[in-house]
Amino acid sequence: MGQFKTNAIVIGRTDYRDHDRMLTLFSPDRGRLEVLARRAKSPKSPLLSASELFCSGEYVLYSSGEHTSVVSCQVTDAFYPLREDYERLSHGTLMLEMCRVVVQPEQPEQRFFLHFLRSLAHLAYGSASPRSVTAVFMAGLLSLNGFRPAVRKCTCCGNALIPGEGMTYGFSLTRGGILCPACCIADGRTLTGKDVADMQWIMKEGLAALDGGLKVSSAVFYALLEMAKKRLECTFQSEKMLAF
Ligand SMILES: [Zn+2]
Repeated sequence: MGQFKTNAIVIGRTDYRDHDRMLTLFSPDRGRLEVLARRAKSPKSPLLSASELFCSGEYVLYSSGEHTSVVSCQVTDAFYPLREDYERLSHGTLMLEMCRVVVQPEQPEQRFFLHFLRSLAHLAYGSASPRSVTAVFMAGLLSLNGFRPAVRKCTCCGNALIPGEGMTYGFSLTRGGILCPACCIADGRTLTGKDVADMQWIMKEGLAALDGGLKVSSAVFYALLEMAKKRLECTFQSEKMLAF
């Protein structure tokens, strides 16, 4: 009740009545919030940029008990380059959709918020490929939600996974991780030695791997995407925007 301040990122937005917008905010200390931005569609509105997707800032909100509305916002980053590049935008849109699934009302998500914010910064301003950024984002999302992909030992026989050139590895969605060449079934999804090394690098370094020149294959990307869909029990509309 009353007025309060929180950092947040706009992860969803719908037009509401003639001039208003309903925003879905991701707040590190309050989880997912549905808030009304009055007159946000007006070109002269002070809330115009604060009600754009991806906008991050310090929001002053007012809760009447029934509804919460935006009083003002100090924008810290609008991640503008995401709007200028279709590939970056499609990956960013997928991240937003994942956040809308994972983040729950009244559930603080400090670590995941920071991971998301840093991932957006890499996507908007970094030199790594959007596919690599989203792969690291998904690996972090899975880990922080208790579904850390198993990449060090075969999820079937338990032997240590040593990435080798010319070897074929598998990825099991049911077991939630990599299969060694001996356990890899021929008709399953396959990974190369480099894919295994990249996944181990991601799980060890997180977003720092992007600064080290990580470049993942579509096999790694889709293994993580399919795992996210299976573990979160959902599909993502924006997956259709991705072009490979
Ligand atoms: Zn094995």
